[in-house]
Formats: sequence, C-alpha cells, structure tokens
Amino acid sequence: MSVRSTTEKALEQGGGILRLAPNWVPRSFCVPGRRIKLHPADYYAFGGERGGIDERWFSSTTPADNGPKTSPNEGLSFIVVEDGVKVEKVTLREAIDELKGQIIGDRLWNAHKRWPMYSKFFDNKGALPHHVHQRDQHAKLVGQLGKPESYYYPVQNNNYGADYPYTFFGLKPGTTKDQLRECLLNFTKGDNRITDLSSAYRLEPGTGWDVPAGILHAPGSVCTYEPQKASDVFAMYQSLTGDAIIPEELLWKNSPKEKIGNVDYLIEVLDWEANVDPAFAAHHFMKPKPVHPLAEMEAQGYVDNWITYKSPEYSAKELTVLPGRTATITDAACYGMIVLQGHGTMGAWEIESPALIRFGQLTVDEFFVTESAARKGVKITNPSKTDPIVMLKHFGPGNPDLKL
Ligand SMILES: [Zn+2]
Repeated sequence: MSVRSTTEKALEQGGGILRLAPNWVPRSFCVPGRRIKLHPADYYAFGGERGGIDERWFSSTTPADNGPKTSPNEGLSFIVVEDGVKVEKVTLREAIDELKGQIIGDRLWNAHKRWPMYSKFFDNKGALPHHVHQRDQHAKLVGQLGKPESYYYPVQNNNYGADYPYTFFGLKPGTTKDQLRECLLNFTKGDNRITDLSSAYRLEPGTGWDVPAGILHAPGSVCTYEPQKASDVFAMYQSLTGDAIIPEELLWKNSPKEKIGNVDYLIEVLDWEANVDPAFAAHHFMKPKPVHPLAEMEAQGYVDNWITYKSPEYSAKELTVLPGRTATITDAACYGMIVLQGHGTMGAWEIESPALIRFGQLTVDEFFVTESAARKGVKITNPSKTDPIVMLKHFGPGNPDLKL
C-alpha cells in the first residue's frame, strides 16, 4: 500500500480523525517516574543501554535525537489503520507530506510545509539540569529553529510529585553577567552551582508555565504535558543535577564550532532581560482559562479550558465531557489529542483511557483531528454515569480560536 492510499483509508475510516499508536521514547540520562501508564515491566523495553522510557510523544513528525543507538523512526508518530486482522501503519510525517492541507489545513501547510509542533509527556523521577533552548537567531547558526516550550501538569498523571517537584526558572533579578560567567567557567570543576542564581517554584498539578526560547529552566519531577515547537536545540548550563554529572559536551551542544569554549557566547544566547524579569511568574505562570463562560459550557455537557495560551507557536486545551452527556466541539484548526480519563465515543471512534499499556500495544487514546473535521465539529459521547472524559488537545501556530 502506498502512503497516499493508506492515509486516505485512515481518513475515511476515522471520518477525518486519525488514530495514532503510542510513541514511547527512552532517555539514557533520565530515570522514569512511572506515571505514564506503561506496564511496570516495560520501562526498560528498549534495553538497559538506551535508558528507561520516560517520555511519550504525541502527534510527532519530529524524530528523537538520542544519539547513534536511536532506533529507526524513534519519536515519529504512526497512524494506525485496522483492516480486519491486518494492521497498516504510516508515519504522520509521511502522511502530511503527501496529503498536506487535507490533514493540517491550507493555512498551516502554506506557511510551514509541515506540522510544526508536537507534544509529549515527560515523566522523570528527578529534576533536569538548568538548560536553555536557543532562540531562532542562535539556532539558525547550526541550521535549526529556536524552541519555545510550555508545561501543563495533568492531575491524572500526578498522584505523586517524585523526587523534586520544583522548577527553577531564569535567574534571580539583579544577577550579574559576571556571576553567571563564573558558573559557566566552573562547569568542569564539579558543581557549578548555577541554581544558586535562580529561583525554584513549587509545581501545582492542574496549572502550567510558558517558557519562550532563551530562558533558563530546570524542569522538576512532576509528570508534564509539554506542547512545544518541533525543534530539538538545547544547551545544559548546570554541571550537577541531583547526583548526576552533566558531560561538558552538553554545555556546548548546538553552539557553532567557532564559539565552543567562549562562555560569553553562552551568555549572549540567553534572553537576559526575560531571565532576570522580577515579574517572571506573572508573565509565565498559566492557570487554566475557560474557553466560554463556565455555566454556558456545563449546560451543553462539557468544560473546555485553555491550558497553554501564551505562545504564538502552539496552544493547548483541556476538554472535559461530563458523565452521561454528549457534546459537539468545534475548533478552527487541526489538533493532536490524548485521552487522560474516561471512555466513550468521538465521531466514528470508540475512545478510552487505558489503565495500563504494554510496550508495543495499540490503544484508542490518541488521535489527530484534521482541520476539516475540527471545523465541522467532533461529537463526543460519554456513556459513564460517574466518570468524566478528559482529554488534552494541542494545536499548531496561530490558532484562530485563541483570543486572550
Ligand atoms: Zn527545556
């Protein structure tokens, strides 16, 4: 079967809603937090050397950059088509390359020629090192794009916060470039203590943060839903996190060759004013905001909240369909989505959030809704007497519905 015929069959089968297979990604430098419903025996299914599985990527057309041992198609989402007992698969990336605006809409295709975001769960037992994603002007020097990202901490995935449920953001107001320079010069001397210059915030399930490119951040150990621009540039500025030493090559990751060894370049990469902003939390913390007046939505059987709404590059919503109710939800743009709780139907599909997933097992909890299906409206029915259906939906740049 060709990419085109398989994708067309998938579109027909799902009425414009594509079913995706779970997309697990291991990280050799992280310990899994075990909150993403994977079977406890499967967290090291890629083999010990590859590290534990602490990420599940959603609607991804971006390959994972996990070094020379990365398996083929790692990080790429697959569309699943079931034909009797036969299962056909095609990557979302190939499908979009082939059918273009028919999947993501002409607005996004004409501007980007690809699906330019993805989302993921990251689920780490410990915190990550204080690091930065370069802005476009610095990423471009190594042939890449800048990378903003956002966080939302779903309550369904956070029955415990693991080792360090706090995130350092930016640098304390008043920090000088000389103080930071000293930390960077000390990178290879053990603990460079860069977080002495930063403030950590306690992470609250059901809320989130916005992190534009150029801002330092050391994500805490809360299980995180992370909509982000499809790019993989970063540099680690912290030399010791918990008990783990960070190799120096990660300090210089994505620096142009001629800048390696030049700590002033690393300082230049930062959006300095944004890092030392005294009103950092006011500018970047996000509490959910109702899409429409609450009473109006509840009367129609659902509650829809913006959870990621401060970036022009992507946005996200949390949709709840109340027990025993049916709601038709219309969006102006295509989106990827993951079911966090409950079961029912969504258009032509049965949907459910599994309690447990084996590595390699298919699910009916993740989908990609084409622009035309989103505009037409997606009918969701919740047959449960007690359990809401809760899903997270991630959108690409310039969502026409986002007017906050
Ligand atoms: Zn990051």
